[in-house]
Amino acid sequence: MTTNRSPKWQFDNSYLTLPPIFYSFQNPSMVNSPQMVLFNTPLANSLGLEFLDKNMDQTTLELSGNLTPEGAQPIAQAYAGHQYGHFTMLGDGRAILLGEQITPAGKRFDIQLKGSGRTPYSRRGDGKATLRAMLREYLMSEAMFYLNIPTSRSLAVVASQDEVQREETHQGAVLTRVMKSHIRIGTFEYAAHYGTRQDLEKLTHYVIQRHYSELQNSENPPLELLKAVALKQIDLILDWMRVGFIHGVMNTDNTSISGETFDYGPCAFMNNYNPRTVYSSIDQYGRYSFENQTNIVFWNLSVLGDTLQPLIHKDPYQSVVIVKEVLHTLQNQFLEKWDQMISKKLGFVDPQKSDKPFIDSFLQWIHTNKADYTNSFIALLRPDLFPLHPIHSESGISWVEQWKSRIYNQKGGFEAAKSLMKTQNPIYIPRNHIVEQVLDQAVKGDLSDLKLWLQILKNPYELQDVDNRYLHGIEDFRTDYKTYCGT
Ligand code: AMP
Ligand code: MG
Repeated sequence: MTTNRSPKWQFDNSYLTLPPIFYSFQNPSMVNSPQMVLFNTPLANSLGLEFLDKNMDQTTLELSGNLTPEGAQPIAQAYAGHQYGHFTMLGDGRAILLGEQITPAGKRFDIQLKGSGRTPYSRRGDGKATLRAMLREYLMSEAMFYLNIPTSRSLAVVASQDEVQREETHQGAVLTRVMKSHIRIGTFEYAAHYGTRQDLEKLTHYVIQRHYSELQNSENPPLELLKAVALKQIDLILDWMRVGFIHGVMNTDNTSISGETFDYGPCAFMNNYNPRTVYSSIDQYGRYSFENQTNIVFWNLSVLGDTLQPLIHKDPYQSVVIVKEVLHTLQNQFLEKWDQMISKKLGFVDPQKSDKPFIDSFLQWIHTNKADYTNSFIALLRPDLFPLHPIHSESGISWVEQWKSRIYNQKGGFEAAKSLMKTQNPIYIPRNHIVEQVLDQAVKGDLSDLKLWLQILKNPYELQDVDNRYLHGIEDFRTDYKTYCGT
C-alpha cells in the first residue's frame, strides 16, 4: 500500500542506479501493534519531514514498516566484510533502506529501518531487533551527534508487540536510522569479490559522485578516494578517542565510507582511563580495545586499499607499492594528529614537540591512579567539581602546578586554555551505569529518565544545573560490564 499526501517525503533513490548485484528489493515485514516510543522532532525538521509530527498515526505505520511511504523503494543492501579479521558475505540482514530523502537544503540522507524483518541476506537471523537495543542505539547516536562527532542519527523508535527471542524474550522494535549513506568498506569488498571489474568501477564512481565530488577530476580518483576516506576515518577515530568512545566492533562492514560512526552495538564510553579497555562480550583478545582503535582503523583502510588496487594502477605491483606508501604517510599523520588532539584537551593552543613527555606521563598518572578519563581533563580546570578525584592528592596537585606553568606561558594564557578545553572535553558522556538504568526503566514503559538523560546529553560541553550524579562514573558499577552485538 502507498500513501498520498502533501507535503511529503522527497525520495530520490540514486542507489538503484548501481548494478542490481548491489541490492535486493525487499519490503519490511509487518509488525504487530506498532507504537511510537521516541520521535526525534529536531532531526525530522532538519530533514524537511516536519509533517511526520503532524500525523503520528501514519508516521508510526510508516516507520514500523507496516506502510510504505510514497516514493520509497525498499531494498536490502548487499555487502561483505571482514569480521574479526575473517572475510564473510553479509548484507542487510535486518535492515531495509526505504530511500534517500532530499532535504530542503538539497542534502541527501539514507532513511533506513533497522529490525524490520528478514531479507535475502539474513542467513540464520530473525531480522528483528529488541526495543532495548534500539533505544540504546538512539541514545548513543544522538549523544555522539551532540558531541559534534560524525554519526548516523536516529529519527524514531517504534515498539511492536512482536516477541524477539534472544537469551531471554524481548519486546521488538524498529529504529529509523538516518545517515549520509550506508556504504561501507564492506560494500567495496563485496564488489571486488563477487562483482565484475565494471561493478567495482561503477561503485567507485558512484561513491565519488555522492560523497567526494571534488575528486571527480583528479588524476587518479580511486587513489584520491582512498586518501579521502582514510582522512575521514582518522579524524573520526581521533574524535572517538577524544571523548573515550569504544566502538567495540570495528569490522570493515561497520566502517562507513562517508566517515560516520554507525552500528551502535557493543559500544560504550570508558570510565577510568585504561587504554586496554574492552566492553564487548565477544572481543576476547582486545582487537577493538580503546587503544587498538588506532591500529584497526589502518587495518580496515588497508582492506579498502586492496579492493581499489586494480583501479589505482594497471600494474598490480605498482598498485601495492602506491597503496602502502599512502597508508604509511597517513599513519605518521595520525600520530601527529593524536598529539594535537591530546594537546587540545589539555588546553595547549600552540602544541610543541617538547610537550610529549608531559602528555605521556600525565596519561600514565591517570591510568595508575585509576582516574576517570573524561573528568581528569575537566578536573584541571574545575577540581572543585570532583572532590574524590586524585587531582587532590599530592601528585595531583603537582600535576596541576606543572600544567599551570605550561599554560600561563602560552599566548592567551589560562583563558585561551579554558576556551579551547571547553570545546574538546565533554562534561557529560553516556555513562554506562546511567545508560543501563534509563534503559531498564524505559523497557518497562517509563521513559522519563531516558528523556531527561537525552536532554542533558544535548549540551555535553556545558555544566548544567542537574544532579551531580550525571557527572560521575560509578567506581564499582559492574567492573565486568559487558556489551553485546546483534541484540
Ligand atoms: P552487525 O554485528 O550488527 O554489524 O551485523 C553483522 C551482520 O549480521 C549484518 O549482515 C547484519 O545484517 C546481520 N544481522 C545481525 N543481527 C541480525 C538478525 N537478528 N537477523 C538477521 N541478520 C542479522
Ligand atoms: Mg553492521
